[in-house]
Amino acid sequence: MTLTYRIVIGMVAGLAVGLLLQWLSLPKEHVVSEFLTFGLIEGGGEIFISLLRMMVVPLVLVSLTCGAASLGATGRLGGKAIGLYLVTTAIAVTLALSLALIVDPGLDAGEIPDISYEAREAPSTKDTLVNIVPKNPIAAMADGAMLQIILFALLLGFSISQVGEAGARIQSVFEDLNAIFMKLITLVIELAPYGVFCLMVKLGVTVGWSEITKLLAYFLTVASALAIHMLVVYPTLLKLLSGLNPITYLKKMREPMLVAFSTSSSGATLPVTLRTVENRVGVSNSVASFAVPLGATINMDGTAIMQGVATVFIAQYYGIALGPEQLLMVVLTATMASIGTAAVPGVGLVMLAMVLDQVGLPVAGIGLIIGIDRLLDMMRTAVNVTGDGMVATVVAASEGELDQSKFDDPNAGRIIEPS
Ligand code: ASP
Repeated sequence: MTLTYRIVIGMVAGLAVGLLLQWLSLPKEHVVSEFLTFGLIEGGGEIFISLLRMMVVPLVLVSLTCGAASLGATGRLGGKAIGLYLVTTAIAVTLALSLALIVDPGLDAGEIPDISYEAREAPSTKDTLVNIVPKNPIAAMADGAMLQIILFALLLGFSISQVGEAGARIQSVFEDLNAIFMKLITLVIELAPYGVFCLMVKLGVTVGWSEITKLLAYFLTVASALAIHMLVVYPTLLKLLSGLNPITYLKKMREPMLVAFSTSSSGATLPVTLRTVENRVGVSNSVASFAVPLGATINMDGTAIMQGVATVFIAQYYGIALGPEQLLMVVLTATMASIGTAAVPGVGLVMLAMVLDQVGLPVAGIGLIIGIDRLLDMMRTAVNVTGDGMVATVVAASEGELDQSKFDDPNAGRIIEPS
């Protein structure tokens, strides 16, 4: 049985168990709740996420240093990747705004009590730029500051490529380490069915049906925009820009999608995305090691979609009409916010405050949608990682860095039996 099926089984079984437990509504002190649901099972999910996170910093550093060392100059590649990330995000928000304006998912004022929500201040552009340069690479790694690690690894790799024999020796050490980390990821991914099971039990127990029904129109608008982006926009862009078969691509990306859905974190999913894009899709290490971590950090199309719909929804709730200028402002700020959104659960909502602030909407409106954000977060994270892989694939194809035979081989890099 392939890993994908085992993950799907883990997911369905976990959700079923979780829903059953919710239906039984055992008190928190009950032995099943205390030791199983919120003990072993919740702990199992957290261990799985920690195992994934454990891999992120060493993997990005080693893999990207290798990639930069063997590619030398990455200027053009970087420009293409960043450009595509921004364009896809802008398309995502535009799609979300259009759909929200058509569907009109607003609530009648007063239907849901106002919950206050504190906005965090957005960092200035200067701070954002200055913060990309690490003062101390070790501190950057300890903090998991992804853009700083990316910059350091690029410079390190470039320097390695410039110093002849000494560089070649170090490069081979990094390449060996990279192979070892790839093996480690494979081992961690093999635990995914169990990790996903635990995470889905937690979801099943805690999912709030009454909130979802109250906000059904909003929920369905976000979900539809996410589905259109994933199943229409990405396939069209992939076909137009690289000529590759989008169905093959989407099929190969199923594992990162499932892990992203269960963990709600494109950061934690990064090792799985990177492995899949290299070993299953056939993108070279040089392109994947740069484009995928960069995408996990700055590319959040799914998040931008939620922000687009949420802005319209909140504006309607407060009876504030959004003019064309404000809509354009939403596209720009949501695209920028997506760059600043950390790849962890729920941050999209924090960044929404910045978007609302820009167009003069009350930030407290976030209180309206906070109750159902968890499930939407899972869905949008799956879209986020699919977009990262899509851009990496398009850039690789345009640079002659895609292994077409790997792309066409349905079994390339597939994990079938546990090793
Ligand atoms: N959970 C999302 C991610 O990690 C970010 C967000 O939208 O909150 O990709």
